[in-house]
Amino acid sequence: MRTSNLLISTTRETPSDAVVISHQLMLRAGIIRPLAGGLYNWLPLGVRVLRKVEAIIREEMNRSGAQEVLMPVVQPMELWEESGRAQDYGPELLRFKDRHQRDFALGPTHEEIITDLVRKEIRSYKQLPANFFQIQTKFRDEIRPRFGVMRSREFIMKDAYSFHMDRESLQQTYDEMFDAYNRIFTRLGLDFRPVQADTGSIGGDGSHEFHVLAESGEDDIAFSTASDFAANVELAEAVAPKGERAAATEALTEVATPNKHSIEEVCDFLQLKKKKIVKTLLVKGADEKHPVVALVVRGDHELNEIKAEKLDLVAEPFEMASDEEILAAAGCNAGSIGPVGLNIPVIVDRTAAHMSDFVCGANKDGFHVTGANWDRDATATLVADIRNVVKGDPSPCGNGKIEIRRGIEVGHIFQLGNKYSTALNATVQNENSRSQILEMGCYGIGVTRVVAAAIEQNFDDKGIIWPESITPFQVCIVPMQMHKSPRVKEAAEAMYQELTAKGIEVLFDDRSERPGVMFSDMDLIGIPHRIVIGERGLDNGQIEYKYRRDEQAQDVATEGFMDFLM
Ligand code: ATP
Ligand code: MG
Ligand code: MG
Ligand code: MG
Repeated sequence: MRTSNLLISTTRETPSDAVVISHQLMLRAGIIRPLAGGLYNWLPLGVRVLRKVEAIIREEMNRSGAQEVLMPVVQPMELWEESGRAQDYGPELLRFKDRHQRDFALGPTHEEIITDLVRKEIRSYKQLPANFFQIQTKFRDEIRPRFGVMRSREFIMKDAYSFHMDRESLQQTYDEMFDAYNRIFTRLGLDFRPVQADTGSIGGDGSHEFHVLAESGEDDIAFSTASDFAANVELAEAVAPKGERAAATEALTEVATPNKHSIEEVCDFLQLKKKKIVKTLLVKGADEKHPVVALVVRGDHELNEIKAEKLDLVAEPFEMASDEEILAAAGCNAGSIGPVGLNIPVIVDRTAAHMSDFVCGANKDGFHVTGANWDRDATATLVADIRNVVKGDPSPCGNGKIEIRRGIEVGHIFQLGNKYSTALNATVQNENSRSQILEMGCYGIGVTRVVAAAIEQNFDDKGIIWPESITPFQVCIVPMQMHKSPRVKEAAEAMYQELTAKGIEVLFDDRSERPGVMFSDMDLIGIPHRIVIGERGLDNGQIEYKYRRDEQAQDVATEGFMDFLM
């Protein structure tokens, strides 16, 4: 493709509202453009990347034997009523009425729809197992859309749903999906880790998240440098192999308290049973002097998930979230903001009926539940007390076997069991001609999030450096003064034709821009291989080549250049 025929919308300035590098570079390189909160236009360059990501996913899903379907974005609320999620899902589900006053929602996920389809279409055990996937737009009315397409409201997901007669069959497909995901993320050129994840109320050990390692990630993952063990931090201690449990505890303690005070000690002080803690978050922006720990305490599980989301918001640097935003997330009254704003530990009690019941402080006498009359002086004393307790000598280091890193969740596979099939009565005839409830699995990949995650791992101060498998173009040709030199033009055109004929995707910069502008645009856009054609090179029988990650360009003899490039 020629740049004269492509929308190149690059900017030098870093947009002030973009805090993570991928968001900044996607805007600067003209990959995406914001439309409204959490909604983005994908520009032509971006779509090329997106289609490549989709193609790799589609290929591996097909290879695994899954069948592609396409389900509507708009979903009738009746099915959500039937599954029970109309109540449970909360405000992330965007609901609306059609002109006949019938209730609909924009699909944040498709368990209800696929289960309904399967209960109508599949009659016999002979048709199973079956795994259906789609690559489709999702809408989640995220409370705080952020980081560009990393956490947007509308995004593209590859979601798959498998159906089985028994758990063994489910396990088999689950394992196949696990392998397919490893192939997909490897082909995407990402540094990733599959980690064991919480199965929530469904139980069992059938859930893994796939995380791309990056500082900007919103999750903490724990993994062993010595074994295969890797898990979400919520689970790490519980599921660590015996030999590594102590190391896991040690590593988690460090994450939880920057001054290395143990969770036990904090729990003890807060008169809290440690096993009740399901998630320990270090509040971003906390430092040695201001340790702030947020604990999510075990209670009713359904509530857990919803409120963990809310807690994420509290875990942001306080400057970023306004009191109003925190209150809106917490769904509580203005008076109860005191302790949050004052940076004291937030204790979340999952059994509480309302967020305002569990945003509370603690002192040596026990919990202090806030109310409208929060006493700021008393709180200040309390804060000082807590800081004294969590200060102190660092605990001895572990043996260094468990690492905790930030991760971006790009994929999630899950053994659903019969939760949805029971609720929707999805049955088929078994070998004895009896109707039997199906077992289900579900498997998601955030397609648009993958693009951002790839950039988080591949950039420098000049811009994006695309992994070869998803780059919008593999090679760019930058001719010097082409519009003044027929010789250069001819050579560049010939090179363009030759590479294109070989099936290489080439971006031919035929604009009459200064070389500096062209170079910096190509670097920003992130094309891995750059070919420069100029008068001097032609005189010397040479072509200038530069790999995006190299410091220096190199001159390569024109003769044999193709062999060099291939
Ligand atoms: P998160 O924990 O980041 O909110 P999730 O666990 O809610 O994600 P899943 O329901 O597991 O997400 O959906 C499958 C995949 O969809 C996720 O692994 C992620 O890659 C992607 N995804 C989820 N929410 C978003 C979003 N708001 N924007 C972009 N991608 C998303
Ligand atoms: Mg989510
Ligand atoms: Mg998640
Ligand atoms: Mg998930």
